[in-house]
Amino acid sequence: MLKKKSWMLLTLVSAVLISCVMFFCLCNNVVSNNKVASNKVNEKADDEVDKEKDEMDKQKKVVGKIEEESAKAAFNMSKYSVEPKDSNKYLSNSNNSSEEKMVFLTFDDGPNVGVTDGILDILKKNDVKATFFLLGTSIEASDENKQLVKRMVNEGHSLGNHSYSHDYKKLYPNEQTDVDTFISEFDKTNNLINSALGYEYKIRAFRMPNGYMTRKHKGDKKVDVLIDKLKGRDSYSIDWNSLSYDAEAGKRTPKQLVENIKKTAKNKKHLVILMHDTKNETLECLQELIDTLKNKKYTFKVFR
Ligand SMILES: [Zn+2]
Repeated sequence: MLKKKSWMLLTLVSAVLISCVMFFCLCNNVVSNNKVASNKVNEKADDEVDKEKDEMDKQKKVVGKIEEESAKAAFNMSKYSVEPKDSNKYLSNSNNSSEEKMVFLTFDDGPNVGVTDGILDILKKNDVKATFFLLGTSIEASDENKQLVKRMVNEGHSLGNHSYSHDYKKLYPNEQTDVDTFISEFDKTNNLINSALGYEYKIRAFRMPNGYMTRKHKGDKKVDVLIDKLKGRDSYSIDWNSLSYDAEAGKRTPKQLVENIKKTAKNKKHLVILMHDTKNETLECLQELIDTLKNKKYTFKVFR
């Protein structure tokens, strides 16, 4: 009887022991599985952190290179650029006496693939720099036009803002400047320039569609509010004192365009020439114009 009881007790104890061992093994397995899984998660997270770090380093290098390039371009431009703040002095030829003869070639309404690229080729061939007053809608028109904005800066030209729409009804309703609309178009075009370049370009020169002087002649009382507001943002309006009449109605030969510039440039030591890189005739007359100006000993400058 006692033997039987001991036998049962032994069986019971063994069963309990075996269950404990099995339970321990099971638990251990779960823990170690969890450990492997959590190590894998940690490794993955580490990989992602490394990737992000690499990406950030890459970005830093790109931004650094762009900053370096734009600083280099600004430095190079300082040799052949003038302060846009002073444009009225040049336009009115009031600082004529001691300074050298200067000419500012300015092109409005572009970029425009088919003409602007030809103009850039001629400027490059002659080592001449110009100021391009860009239109938001023209930048937006195609990828080629956006590439032209980049090319302008890469080749040392200066950029200015010429509004987004060029629409007189929106910008000057009832012949009075709509200051808010003008500024929102100005910002929109600046943003388009920056996104075409891939970095922020400090626009300091702008040209009002139709010109500042025309606004004054038309009795626009709000235009000076706009001028003051943009001055507060270190941007200045630039008109012209010589032109080729390339945007007027009627067809003109390239020769006539050069003649028009010569006529309007007479006796001026400082020339700010208005042209449009939307006109084939402008492209066709450019070489002759540059030759004429070089012969007359003008130095080519830009508004920075
Ligand atoms: Zn225009």
